[in-house]
Parts: sequence; structure tokens; C-alpha cells
Amino acid sequence: MRFRLYPTPVQEEGLRGHCVQARFVWNLALEQTNWYRPEWGPTPGYVAQSAQLTEARAASEWLAAGSFTVQQQALRDFAQAMKYWWAGTHGRPTWRKKGRREGFRIVAVKTGHVRRLNRRAAEVFVPKVGWVRFRLTRPLPSGAKSYRVTLDPMGRWHIGFALKPEPIKRISTGAAVGVDRGVVNTLATSDGQLLHVPELTLRERAHLVRLQRRLARRKKGSRRREQARRAVARLRAREADRAKDWIEKTTTSLVRDYDLVAIEDLRVTAMTRSARGSIAAPGRHVAAKSGLNRQILGRRWSLFARRLCEKATLAEVVVVKVDPVNTSRRCRACGHVAAENRKSQAVFGCVACGHVAHADVNAALNILAAGRAVTAHGEAVVVASMNCEPQHAPPTAA
Ligand SMILES: [Zn+2]
Repeated sequence: MRFRLYPTPVQEEGLRGHCVQARFVWNLALEQTNWYRPEWGPTPGYVAQSAQLTEARAASEWLAAGSFTVQQQALRDFAQAMKYWWAGTHGRPTWRKKGRREGFRIVAVKTGHVRRLNRRAAEVFVPKVGWVRFRLTRPLPSGAKSYRVTLDPMGRWHIGFALKPEPIKRISTGAAVGVDRGVVNTLATSDGQLLHVPELTLRERAHLVRLQRRLARRKKGSRRREQARRAVARLRAREADRAKDWIEKTTTSLVRDYDLVAIEDLRVTAMTRSARGSIAAPGRHVAAKSGLNRQILGRRWSLFARRLCEKATLAEVVVVKVDPVNTSRRCRACGHVAAENRKSQAVFGCVACGHVAHADVNAALNILAAGRAVTAHGEAVVVASMNCEPQHAPPTAA
């Protein structure tokens, strides 16, 4: 649960300091881990590094002036990230770069250190910085045990509280659905719905193009370039916020409405995707969505799948991940598989039986059938919790 944080200029200075030091400590721990030779014995873990931090603080005024709580937490987060890496659930911890994912974390928040001021505002106690106000866009979370303060590329501060997720209240519906993903239609369901992730409006998009041109013209390091960069980042962030919001709403309604949701297995999809129609032979207006945009799409898909699984696990809804092979080429009516079945981006027309359908809906029906087959055989009942345990993002220090 994230809120916009409004530090005073003096407090902002302090928060920036915390970010820099959290990043510094994280990078130091990473460097030590990278350079460590096995013959020196076991890699220094959190305890050893914590002792070193105490020594470093004694030797450096700069570190000593900062918050021990913030620095120590960065070490703990690093140790946790290494554990996740060894366990194979996350990638290897990486170098923290200036200006990217700046932030720090505070855990074991004392009761009373987050308090409401009025209907619209609350404040949080940050070590060495004091009480910082944030805007309440929804009720203040109760019992938050940790929070993370972040600075985005536009210079906006946010505070995020880690909360125990509540299961979605639902009554079993007995309904099952297959969900196909695409570029033109973000999602197509087996019962015929075509859903679209909100994008920038045409005006916003034109504005973005102008801004990007301006950015390219401006001299590196100039103030005007920085202005342009922020304006671009602001638009991109607006788009990303809309997409996240849409993913939250869409996954909630899927989990509420269906007892079983079948989706493509993204790991398999990544390898077979290029053979599929929607990206290899996209419709008009899609050509531009390549490169970076495809990367963004990929990340959104992962987020969609992850949020769906997390919510499904809590609500005891089954999510089945199926191999997407031939889902767009198989005829739902007769089972005939042929590349020629796909007439265009939108139209499926079976060359064997003449069955005509919306291409994405036909694919969603195939995904549903594959999902049903998996659960019916009982050999691999892919309960959501099996394949996609609620993953908590690796705690990250600045
Ligand atoms: Zn057919």
C-alpha cells in the first residue's frame, strides 16, 4: 500500500542521505561477496558484515553521521536477497545505481510511529529525519510492521507499507475460464471478453514523442535536459500506473468470478512465442510496439501472472499454467491444427471444418481445454500455490 510522501526540503535532504547510504552499504556488501575467494572460508554473512559495518562507522564520519538503522537494514536486505538467490527463487543481487530504484527500508516499526493527522494526511517517523507527512488516499493501514521509502525518477517520494494480504471474498461459482494474451487485445477470455490495458491517450502519446525529441536535442547535464527527462519519466510513470491499476482490478475479478483460471505458462511461452501469430504477424498499429515496448509488455505479463497466482492462492482458486503450443492454430470445434487456420490477427477460420471464431477467443478456449485436461487427469493438478507461491519481491536496499 503506497502513499505519496511530502518531506520538507530539510527532510528531503535527510531522506536522500539515507538512500545514498543504503545504496553504498548494499554495494559494499555486494562487492565483498563478488571478490570473496572460497579458500578464505565461508563467505561473510550478515553477522560478519554487520560487525564490519560497526567498524566502518567508527572510521568514517560520513557513515557515522547517518542512520545505523538504515545502514543495517540495507545489509539485512542484501543477506535476504542472497538467500533468495541461493534458493533459486530470484536472480542474483545486482549493483545499485544512482538514480535507479533509490530507497531504503525500515522494519520493526514501533507502534505509534505511523499516525493519522486528519482525514487526508498522516505522518511517519523516519530515523534521524523525524516526522514526515504523507497523503492518505485510502485508509491508513493498521499494524504495518515495515515500510519502504522510495524516490522515483521524477523526484517524487513514496512510502510503501508491507501488509498481510487479505483473501478476496468469494462464493464458489463452479465456472472456469481460459485467458489468452495478445498485443492487440491484451486479454481474451474463453467466454468471449476482450480486455484492453489502458494506454496513453493519443494526445499524451503525441506529447511523449515531442518530449523525447526535445530530450534528444538538449545538451547532456543541462538543466533543461533534466526538465525534459523528468517530463518523459512522468508520462511513462502515468502509463505504468494505469497498467498496474488495471492488472489489480482484472486479476481480482478473475479470481472472484472463476474457480479455475487457465493461462499460458510464461516460461514456455517465452520460447514459443515468436512462432505465434500475435507478435510474429501483428495487426496494423502494432508494428511500433517492438523493442522496448515488447519488454514492457513482457514485464506486465509477468506481473499479471504473479498477481493472479497470489490472489488465487489466498482465495483457494486454481490457476493452471499450460503449454501454449498450438493454442492459436488448433480449431476448437474439430481439433484440426494448421497455421492456415489463422486468417488474420482477429479471424480464425478452420480449413478442415469451416468453423469461424475470433482468433484470440479460440485460443483462450484451447487454453481452457488444456487447463481442464490437466486438472482432470489429476497427474499434475497445478494448484496455484504449487507453481507460483506468493512471491515477495526481494527486499531491496537503495
Ligand atoms: Zn475445425
